[in-house]
Amino acid sequence: MQKVAIVGAGKAGSALLPILYEYSDIKVVGVADIKEDAPGIIIAKQRKIPIFSDYREVFKIKSLNVILNLTGDLSVSERLTELTKNKKIEIISGLGVKLLWDIVYEKKKKEEEEIRLIEKLAKTNQELNETKKYLENILENSADMIITTDINGKIVKFNKGAESILGFKREEVIGKSIEDFYINREDRRQILKCIERQGSISNCEIRLKNKTGDIVYISLTLTQLRNEEGEIIGAVGISKDITEKKKLEKEFLQSNKELENFVYTISHDLQAPLRAIDGFASLLLEEYYSRLDEEGLRYLERIKKAAYRMKLLIEDLLELSKIGRIETPYQYVSFQEIMREVKENLYFDLEKTEAELRLSNNALNTIRDIYCIKPRVVEIFINLITNSIKYIKDNVKPIIEVDCVEEEDYIKFSVKDNGIGIDKQYHTKIFELFQRLHTMEEYEGTGVGLAIVKRIVDLHEGHIWLDSEPGKGTIFYFSIPKQAKEKKAKNG
Ligand code: ADP
Repeated sequence: MQKVAIVGAGKAGSALLPILYEYSDIKVVGVADIKEDAPGIIIAKQRKIPIFSDYREVFKIKSLNVILNLTGDLSVSERLTELTKNKKIEIISGLGVKLLWDIVYEKKKKEEEEIRLIEKLAKTNQELNETKKYLENILENSADMIITTDINGKIVKFNKGAESILGFKREEVIGKSIEDFYINREDRRQILKCIERQGSISNCEIRLKNKTGDIVYISLTLTQLRNEEGEIIGAVGISKDITEKKKLEKEFLQSNKELENFVYTISHDLQAPLRAIDGFASLLLEEYYSRLDEEGLRYLERIKKAAYRMKLLIEDLLELSKIGRIETPYQYVSFQEIMREVKENLYFDLEKTEAELRLSNNALNTIRDIYCIKPRVVEIFINLITNSIKYIKDNVKPIIEVDCVEEEDYIKFSVKDNGIGIDKQYHTKIFELFQRLHTMEEYEGTGVGLAIVKRIVDLHEGHIWLDSEPGKGTIFYFSIPKQAKEKKAKNG
């Protein structure tokens, strides 16, 4: 312990005093200054350090080690040296004091900086802990099912959402294999293979067993968990319960099927009386021609026209109801084969209208086979191309270009024409059943064609849209997934 006396309690003395005071191995044992109100004297008084009005008095202090001359007066140091001749007291003054000041001051600054850093770190730590707790709270209380598993697929975390969806308490499942909850264990293995390749999967539909053994449909998003070294330590899965949605979907499909059966029966049964109406109207025209006046003949013509229109409608409705009712298998088929059948079907219409049907370079060179219900896709093209031929101004030669592009997940097709075009406001409406933009006199039709097209695209889980403006022709696009149906077919 160094006992230090300060001589001179002015600016420098008063600044150094509190700093030295904080050092445990230094004790300031006295402060001397002539002025009673010198700032250092006031500090010394507050801290109960002995004060002296004459610097010579500091020698009264027992076992004093160091005197700091902070007066700036070197003659004071000389006198002090004389007074300490035979004593082991060190006198530091002038440059020595400045150095001491610098060292002490620097050290103090560093210490303060360290304290500030420690405080900041503590605060950050606290904030981090709070955020962690907050997130854990969200995960824990989420209505979604969140399950963490280790590298062996054993359950490590099981939140409240999981408890309510699967009906198990956390304690009952921790350490159990997640695979035990899968209706089809192979699903889990396939998913793991998938996340091995790409790190995660999203919205994968899976069937699990709940506590009572019932099936729970979930939409699972699974991600690998890694430690700080980047090694895989498990996986975390977030799942939504889609059981209710699946049930509704099933009911919807069922009622759709019933509706299609109904439409089929009605349309089918309407054909016979309609044929009778048309047949008898024709008979009347042929055999009673001379006995009917002009008005009667006109009425009969109208009956025949209406019957014809009804025939078209019934045929289209039968076609529409066929899509979901008659199950035709999926198959791999080349684009060229599809187009061959389309051309065969449209041979007479193309000849009659002198329409030109072109295939783009892309379409000609497509090599990837398409996984689809072939006759249905042929039907899409027939409908779109028939419209392209039909909806065109008089005396304009129809030029139709078909394109086929392979995209990441889909194969995209398009049918482009040089026809009358369609106003933007009808771009969605035209896919609805019986929606027509023209009268029978302008362009013959029933408004069923595009509804059929959309139904087939939906069946393939694809998309349909168009690009068109009045007077500028139309491009209909539709896409079919490359994979989805393939997987379904394999799993199902
Ligand atoms: P339909 O041709 O029997 O009327 P669709 O369902 O095939 O029925 O078409 C619905 C409507 O969409 C048509 O009435 C027509 O107005 C418009 N449309 C369809 N295709 C084209 C096209 N390529 N160019 C212009 N308009 C079209």
